[in-house]
Amino acid sequence: MTKQHVKQPIVIIGAGLTGLTLAYYLQKNGVPVTIFEKSDRIGGVIKSFQYEGFIYEQGPNSGTLSNIETVNLLDELSGDIEIDLANETAKKRLIWKNNQWEALPDNLITGIKTPLFNFKDKLNILLEPFKRKGNNPDESIAGMVKRRLGQSFLDYAVDPFISGIYAGDPNYLVTRYALPKLYHLEQTYGSFIKGALQKAKEPKTTEQKRVTKQIFSVKGGLEELVKTLGEKIGQKNIQTGQSHLCIQQVENGYTVNNHFFSKIISTVPADQLSSIFPFITPTLLTPIQSLKYAPVVEVGLGFRQWKGRDLNAFGGLVPNKENRHILGLLFMSSIFKERAPKNGALFTLFIGGTKKPELTQISNEKLLSVVQKDFMEMMNIETFNPELVHIKSYKKAIAQYGKDSALRLENIEKIQKKYPGIILAGSIRDGVGMADRIKQAKNMADQLI
Ligand SMILES: Cc1cc2nc3c(=O)[nH]c(=O)nc-3n(C[C@H](O)[C@H](O)[C@H](O)COP(=O)(O)OP(=O)(O)OC[C@H]3O[C@@H](n4cnc5c(N)ncnc54)[C@H](O)[C@@H]3O)c2cc1C
Repeated sequence: MTKQHVKQPIVIIGAGLTGLTLAYYLQKNGVPVTIFEKSDRIGGVIKSFQYEGFIYEQGPNSGTLSNIETVNLLDELSGDIEIDLANETAKKRLIWKNNQWEALPDNLITGIKTPLFNFKDKLNILLEPFKRKGNNPDESIAGMVKRRLGQSFLDYAVDPFISGIYAGDPNYLVTRYALPKLYHLEQTYGSFIKGALQKAKEPKTTEQKRVTKQIFSVKGGLEELVKTLGEKIGQKNIQTGQSHLCIQQVENGYTVNNHFFSKIISTVPADQLSSIFPFITPTLLTPIQSLKYAPVVEVGLGFRQWKGRDLNAFGGLVPNKENRHILGLLFMSSIFKERAPKNGALFTLFIGGTKKPELTQISNEKLLSVVQKDFMEMMNIETFNPELVHIKSYKKAIAQYGKDSALRLENIEKIQKKYPGIILAGSIRDGVGMADRIKQAKNMADQLI
């Protein structure tokens, strides 16, 4: 590749966390970029608000320092934003069972004592290291967990955990795509327990030591992160309000709104691809566009004077078996500093998901009355008097990596080969969390530079 090629502007479609991180690293390394964004603002689903002493989110609430790319990005931006790490209390996770909260065990003793799992499965866990490793690459998360740990672990640990990440169904999600680290733990070490013990013994590199898996946000809200990225990229390089992009294939490249570019990276959701790239063969695009997403309603609730249960935890998750309306709730004012006025409390509730999509289709008024009942009981309050109520509904919130993933990934490869210069990225592949998005963007930037 000649220097001249390298210096050509790269087009990025979508100014969410993926597109902005990619643009930031490209530009930092001297590669000019132009971002085309449909909406009139940048940040994608990341959006924060401030109201009367509350700082709340309507998209992601926190991220995890689960890879070196995320750690490095936050380090690089630390002069511009203040990283807010979760309080120690956030290590405690609650699970709703039989009308009360139970702490998820975090050591052997609490593991033996917990009422979350039945006696048979607790004994069964001793046999986990001796069970044969699975050989079905398309096995669902539910299948894998039942096979290795037992039904009660699925119902009261994994099912709520999957609600927390995917708002999804462990019967639908395929481990290899949705929880690749867990899949590889079994494939490499033959067992989750053996693998975890072995990994704990392996010496850690300096880089690995920095990947602390801590939960983070940003002072003032996560939107500060994307705003800062936007400022570094420069307003002149980001074109917002581009709801009708016209991309055409021409000799040796493409035109976007009649300007020639040789590389276009898409970070948009699956259902946008055919309108952005009308020239891509539909048979190649259809298996990508059919990617399923979980619908989610996110409700922010702020109380000026909190009179309910103690909030010394990250929050609580509600297993599907318990048949409640809330999937889970985060105790935001306990996790992070300055999220609510003194003596107040801020919560984020999640409703719907692939198991209860009907709840994402009712009016806000009805939704609130349904949620209120669960919330009052779970949080032990007698009057429901939030000062802040913020409801945001997402028809397509989180991508669901099911059995169709193999074909989707195969077709992404085929398209990238057939249409040189086009890269299809974003959460259609490589993970749905913020840390996954940053990692994908950084890796793409490294390849492109
Ligand atoms: C409700 C919710 C809660 C979440 N909670 C968490 C959490 O707690 N922790 C965590 O780690 N992750 C969480 N996530 C996931 C995380 O927010 C996402 O992985 C990440 O922010 C996605 O970034 P992105 O840039 O890939 O996509 P997006 O943020 O969706 O950005 C895509 C961008 O493309 C633009 N676009 C779309 N179509 C077009 C078009 N035709 N032309 C031009 N532009 C277009 C959009 O307007 C948008 O700005 C949550 C997601 C949601 C929806």
